[in-house]
Amino acid sequence: MDADTLRQYLEYYRDLGIETLYRRAAPVAKPEAAPVPEPEPWIVPAAPDLPVLPPLEPSGDTLPHILTDIGDCRRCRLHEGRTHIVFGVGNEHSPLVFVGEGPGQDEDEQGIPFVGRAGQLLTQMIEGTARKEGINLRREDVYICNVVKCRPPGNRTPEADEMEICGQFLYRQLSAIRPKAICALGGTAARALTGHKEGVTKMRGKWFQWRDIPVMVTYHPSFLLRGYNQAARREAWEDLKKVLHAVYD
Ligand code: URA
Repeated sequence: MDADTLRQYLEYYRDLGIETLYRRAAPVAKPEAAPVPEPEPWIVPAAPDLPVLPPLEPSGDTLPHILTDIGDCRRCRLHEGRTHIVFGVGNEHSPLVFVGEGPGQDEDEQGIPFVGRAGQLLTQMIEGTARKEGINLRREDVYICNVVKCRPPGNRTPEADEMEICGQFLYRQLSAIRPKAICALGGTAARALTGHKEGVTKMRGKWFQWRDIPVMVTYHPSFLLRGYNQAARREAWEDLKKVLHAVYD
């Protein structure tokens, strides 16, 4: 600052009635700052119109008990075209659960979720990301299930009433497993778990909540298989990395 500017400042302060000024002490070198911990992943609260109902699960609920309750289910129209009910697969004590939309043709034929092309990609995504991140994890270590347990005709998106009827069993599965985190694959799973209705592109990569369990939303593997989706694949990989570190670090 030149002398003239300094004089103008001093006159200005004098006009304000300030008669004494102090020079600031020379800055002292600060000790090495402690590393700032990673901020907690921010969590988007459940959508306001998601009804908050008291949990209806019987206490001490287990996966075999839920499967027995599903029985030869005819609670909605999806039973009409199914070959098998596709309940879920994997480690029932897993700290991580993946939730897809509903069985496709291969899953309907075999009664196991994510065994077709989308399933093979999901397996690669889980195992490949884990390996790159130094986490020892196989597909069978996690639990995988869907929002609806019977294949919608022509692989259409499940209707609201089908999701609501079958959703009670998904909720019971999640309550019985009580994972540390859930990964919602695609918009249907994201909507069923969070009540939010934005598209996956907006929701992906963020933490939501199902009850008190963190939910990471990412793309459905079927979407990633469509065309040359390199950017979305990279994003899905980032989302999975977040989930795996949150659960297994
Ligand atoms: N897509 C899904 O959402 N679930 C499956 O099980 C298979 C494909």
